[in-house]
Amino acid sequence: MKYIKTSSRGFLLLLATVIAGTLCSCGSPAGKPGAGGIAISFDDHFIKEWYELRPLFRKYNAKATFFVTCPDSLNAEEVAMLKQLEKEGHEIGFHGTVHAKSTELMAVGGPKGYMETELEPGLHHMNAAGFKPTSYAHPGGEP
Ligand SMILES: [Zn+2]
Repeated sequence: MKYIKTSSRGFLLLLATVIAGTLCSCGSPAGKPGAGGIAISFDDHFIKEWYELRPLFRKYNAKATFFVTCPDSLNAEEVAMLKQLEKEGHEIGFHGTVHAKSTELMAVGGPKGYMETELEPGLHHMNAAGFKPTSYAHPGGEP
């Protein structure tokens, strides 16, 4: 399995850019205060780096969704960090069991194979760790 390692400085820069862009360009439509906004999400398994962004989230009152992949490898420290993020209002989503390319997995096993390989085992691990994800970001999509 391959991950692109991104430093937390990279995450900070990305997040700061997104937040600054949001604050500068997203006003409420006339007569509809509070309408509009932006969804911030992160995926894969950079849990420590996500956790370290908490001061920035607090500073901008920002909430994010963290899509976790390979949840069978979550250790107790990572589960605790995710629980804290969830407690602070962030969403913990699911990002697949094996992080396979969805189009390739579907081509080989069809929908049933995809569910049995990519969805069900990981959801079981997420549930066992105390998470009930209601959103999913599929890995390896193609346009
Ligand atoms: Zn991913």
